[in-house]
Amino acid sequence: MTQDNLSAVLYGIDDLRLEQRPIPVPKDDEVLIKMEAIGICGSDVHYLKKGRICDFIVDKPMILGHESSGMVVGVGKNVKHLKEGDRVAIEPGVPCGQCNFCKGGRYNLCPEIFFCATPPDDGNLSRYYCHSASYCYKLPDNMSYEEGALMEPLSVGVHACRRGNVGVGSVVLVLGAGPIGLVTLLSAKAFGASKVLITDILDERLQVAKSLGADHTLKIEKHMTEQDIIKKITELLGEDPTVSLDCSGAEVSVRVALQVTKTGGVAVLVGMGKSEITIPLSGALFREIDIRGCFRYHNTYPTAIELVSSGKINVKPLVTHKFKIEDTQKAFDTAVSGEGNPIKIVIYPNRSNV
Ligand SMILES: [Zn+2]
Ligand SMILES: [Zn+2]
Repeated sequence: MTQDNLSAVLYGIDDLRLEQRPIPVPKDDEVLIKMEAIGICGSDVHYLKKGRICDFIVDKPMILGHESSGMVVGVGKNVKHLKEGDRVAIEPGVPCGQCNFCKGGRYNLCPEIFFCATPPDDGNLSRYYCHSASYCYKLPDNMSYEEGALMEPLSVGVHACRRGNVGVGSVVLVLGAGPIGLVTLLSAKAFGASKVLITDILDERLQVAKSLGADHTLKIEKHMTEQDIIKKITELLGEDPTVSLDCSGAEVSVRVALQVTKTGGVAVLVGMGKSEITIPLSGALFREIDIRGCFRYHNTYPTAIELVSSGKINVKPLVTHKFKIEDTQKAFDTAVSGEGNPIKIVIYPNRSNV
């Protein structure tokens, strides 16, 4: 095998370097993966530009990347369900398996979880990478590596809809039409929502949302007051949403969600913004709005793969830009500048032309 393991390493703010790392050897319960497709996430960009997210601080070099797929090229001796040549989607979080959260199934809350490209854990924007085989999921033949990589953001949408109890007949409001808003829209439709309204400040994103199946879109204009936005949402839906999912993290969106959600409904806060904001709380409490947090996901990969493989969800339109790993800097520059309206930028570590 080649000894080339070019990797995208973040050294600090605006200091991204491509460098060689040794090709790792899989432990007994791991597989070695030849990486094929990796999506750039908002969090990768955030670490590049700010060096931290909340208490997660990049204080030593860290390989970026966590939305990924590849081909198994090495298998640890305890691994039974995968073999060389299998194509897999990689779930980036590997929990401890021992704590109460893990035993209860909500392993996203495990305090000991390893998570790709969350300091201090390395990500997998490399040509080769080893991962726990239990968190690698075989891709059906009808799914591409790009789709495999997109199982990560789609998992966020699936988990958000589960947190919101979205089901047949739900009337859903999604605030923010970035990548996470869009996968939440796709999930809500697949879960049986009768109507989904999605908001954003950018026309281009709302057009994509329309093409992905949004029943209604609302462009948030600068001059609109909170009350204008609330009135417009109820007008467009013909009723108040039973579930609101904030995928923007913006204070005004959270405030709108708490006020517009139907009495007795659910507001899920998916987006991460400022750590402290002002919200109209008592009105929401009097109306028994369930306000729910949402952090990553658990037990979503099999569902996400099934939704795409069966044709219920099409994630392909989300991929707007493609780069080889040598052009990683260019890929991140595009993510930062927003040039060409990128939704999902995908990097191919083992392709010479894309
Ligand atoms: Zn991500
Ligand atoms: Zn645990």
